Amino acid sequence: MAFISFENIKEKHQTFDQTCNYALYALKYVWKRKQGKTYILTKELSALLNGLFPLVNMIIPGLIINELVQGRAISKIIFYIIILLTVPAVQNIINYFLDKKLNKLSLHLSLAFNEEFYHYVLGMDYEKIENPEIQVKKERADDALSGIITVVDQINAVTTAVVSLLAISSVILTLNPFVILLVVLVIFSNSVMAKRANLKKHDLGKKLSDFDWYQGGVSYMLNHISFAKEIRIFDIKSLLISLFTKSKEESNVFELEYRKCNWRLGLFRTATNLIQQGILYAYLVYKVLFKDLPIGNMTIYLSSVGQFSNSLGSVFDSYIRLADRGLKTQELIDFLSVTAAQEIKGTKIPVFRDDSVIEFSHVSFRYPGSEHYAIRDMDLKICAGEKLCIVGSNGSGKSTFIKLLLRLYHPTEGKILLDGVDINEYDQKAYQQLFAPVFQDFVSYYMNLGMNIALTHDYDEKKLDEICEKNGLDSMLSHLPKKYETPLEKWFDSEGIDPSGGEEQRIAIARACYHGGDIFVLDEPTAAIDPITEYDIYMRFNKIITGKCTVLITHRLSAVQLADKVAVFENGCVAEYGTHKELYDKKGIYTEMFDKQAKFYRDEKI
Ligand code: ADP
Ligand code: MG
Repeated sequence: MAFISFENIKEKHQTFDQTCNYALYALKYVWKRKQGKTYILTKELSALLNGLFPLVNMIIPGLIINELVQGRAISKIIFYIIILLTVPAVQNIINYFLDKKLNKLSLHLSLAFNEEFYHYVLGMDYEKIENPEIQVKKERADDALSGIITVVDQINAVTTAVVSLLAISSVILTLNPFVILLVVLVIFSNSVMAKRANLKKHDLGKKLSDFDWYQGGVSYMLNHISFAKEIRIFDIKSLLISLFTKSKEESNVFELEYRKCNWRLGLFRTATNLIQQGILYAYLVYKVLFKDLPIGNMTIYLSSVGQFSNSLGSVFDSYIRLADRGLKTQELIDFLSVTAAQEIKGTKIPVFRDDSVIEFSHVSFRYPGSEHYAIRDMDLKICAGEKLCIVGSNGSGKSTFIKLLLRLYHPTEGKILLDGVDINEYDQKAYQQLFAPVFQDFVSYYMNLGMNIALTHDYDEKKLDEICEKNGLDSMLSHLPKKYETPLEKWFDSEGIDPSGGEEQRIAIARACYHGGDIFVLDEPTAAIDPITEYDIYMRFNKIITGKCTVLITHRLSAVQLADKVAVFENGCVAEYGTHKELYDKKGIYTEMFDKQAKFYRDEKI
């Protein structure tokens, strides 16, 4: 019987109690939502009715046959036929209205779940959501969430089946109680197999979703227009397709295993059902031939057993699906408890005054799962009204410094203080509102230009005009007939535009200006922008931030001369700190960097 065994099952035993708890969790989850109660109660009503309706089809045809063979009363036969026809019609009409209502409710609930889920995910600490492990967890929780309504559906399927079972048992018991035992035995063995199969499928599903995650990334490269140019020029079509094929070939092994589980189960079920039918027919034929069982009763028993078997099977199936959903629900519960456990919640409201100081005090930081310190024992002050420039080679910790400053990550050791108070003691949102950031990897949103800058539907056009002019976006705007309503992605909308790197950076700075804040933060993009544009952007930015506290990461050392203070980062530490002049006179790293760059520009000019 090797073909029906599911070997190598990692026992992840899901007890009856656990399954009930998960089902209850899902039920509560739906019940608590607006219209969730209506959904559950309507479902239960539908379950009750649908549990009773099949009795008619089970019993009436047998009664008609008996009447035809024995009584031959035409009025009785007509009466039976009328019942036989009207009950299904009534059932269909009731189901039509109930289904209509239930479908509407279930779409409404799914949308509410999605909305709530996005709120949760986007409210999560950046530090957590950036972690690839949590990204995968998120995917699986999202999947579990979309199935939470099916948990209610399964519970209802159980109700329908139990109602049916109770009604049918009373019929079958008049034949022989052992018949019920036979059916229970068959269904039970089928269910044990199905449960084993499901555990294996769940393990395989987990492996497959890791592959899905990777394949999604490769598909993105294959499909997204932003890769299309390089793919052609570098002729890497075969490389990318082979990445996809290779991963698919690996995942197909598991996919095949997954499908095998289903057909093995099907085979086992067919075999047990055939055995059951064989025994039942032999017994009924014997009863008709030798024990005077009326022919009509034989059909009643046959369909009763069939129906009993279906209903019992449905109870077990629904239970197994519930158990399977239970494993998924656990993943949802796990994910939903990720933030609640660790989020640092301060309550103080920060005020950035003219004499405020933000201080990094012995701050060290390692990225989660990394051995290497990106920031080491750093002491650095940012004073109100001061312009701090940070320079340093790639990987020296500049962007990490910004992420810590903006409280996207928390120091592994040490503290960041605003006016002597640990920034964690401030309300996170209020603290982050102090900043007007332009990240190194700024993004364009799939929205129109106005919304891309203002990040709101109802933007103030006057304010936008002013900011766009300051940032040199006015000439681009003059070419756009739909002005601020121009979509910012060609990929998304054929009327959209694809801004150049320089324009994208201007938009990102304009966004920071519109948002406003006490401290401007600009992490220069590594993407190449031509020097003239870069110079223009920089000069404009410099005007915008006049008098404002600013942290500027730049690789253009000519810009540094305008800063009040310069910090040179090396290996996550502040190697040199002072004014441009002080550092230049020091003849250290800064002087070397500065001279090299100056020489490069002089040479370039020549
Ligand atoms: P810079 O901005 O100065 O070029 P970063 O602050 O981006 O440097 O990076 C500092 C160090 O931290 C580098 O060694 C980099 O590889 C590492 N690092 C950056 N981001 C992550 C991350 N999300 N996970 C793990 N390590 C990271
Ligand atoms: Mg960086």
